[in-house]
Amino acid sequence: MGRKQIQKTKQNPKRAMTPERRKRINRLKKMILRAIVFMILFPMVCCIILGITLYRTNKTVGTLKEQISFLEKALQNSMDATDRMEALLKVSEEIRRGTNVNADVNSEKELALLPETEDVYESDVVLPKGRKAYLTFDDGPSAYTGELLDILAEYHVKATFFVTGKKKEQYADIYRRIVEEGHTLGMHSYSHEYGNIYASLENFQDDLETLRNFLYDETGVTSNFYRFPGGSSNKVSQTDMSEMTTYLDELGISYFDWNISAGDATGRNVSSEQIVSNVVNALASHRVGVILMHDAADKRSTVDALPKLIEEIQKMEKTEILPITKETLLIQHSQD
Ligand code: ZN
Repeated sequence: MGRKQIQKTKQNPKRAMTPERRKRINRLKKMILRAIVFMILFPMVCCIILGITLYRTNKTVGTLKEQISFLEKALQNSMDATDRMEALLKVSEEIRRGTNVNADVNSEKELALLPETEDVYESDVVLPKGRKAYLTFDDGPSAYTGELLDILAEYHVKATFFVTGKKKEQYADIYRRIVEEGHTLGMHSYSHEYGNIYASLENFQDDLETLRNFLYDETGVTSNFYRFPGGSSNKVSQTDMSEMTTYLDELGISYFDWNISAGDATGRNVSSEQIVSNVVNALASHRVGVILMHDAADKRSTVDALPKLIEEIQKMEKTEILPITKETLLIQHSQD
């Protein structure tokens, strides 16, 4: 009976356990085991790595959040100061490039942002310690120029006259008085006809040369200062303004726009009180104020405003009234 059983076992191929078969089974077992271990360990390792990464990220996010909220608070606290600084940096950058001080006198916001203190400019911008005010009169001579000169003399104040070419006999004296009494003689085109002088660079050059020679003949002085009719930012010129500014530059002529307007431009019937307050209010937020006024037959209120205006400006702290010179900070409108 026992023998039979043994024989049966030997005959059954499924039960036969040859060494090769055993090895194969062992190998399989090992492979399965490795696979199981791998399947367990790999996700675990991944989880650990991801966990560490997540922890670090969270930490970084936390730090960043803290920094952001700190910055937000700081920003909020100094919002005004920041706005002011940005505006000042812009202005000082423009000054550094010698191109522009924002001269839109109608923009209250920008006016308010202009500097009152002297510690905010870049180091290479030389600003006066106090305030400098430049009274400038366009379009003369006129029937009122003599009166304006008398008032200025009375207050011992020097101004700048941007004149046009007028051949009338009575004005010959006026041109000379401007120079002899220590004011700056500036040019404002011979004809003051926009359609002519801005039609081409040649026209502009001709007009300029005519005026410059005319003034030299009248006064013995070659003027080196120019104010464009309508300003360098005028929108009527058919010629690129930069062609004209380049030309002036080549001749060593400095052009000046304005950053304060008296508001006495043609067509506006403005009272002398209004002129004084326009100028004084604006000047309060400028370290350098180039003040646009007009010397023309219909500008009686400008003449009437002048004494009070000078008095009010002289009352302002550390403020001087000066004629424009080559040392004056260029106040020029942007070309765009
Ligand atoms: Zn003019």
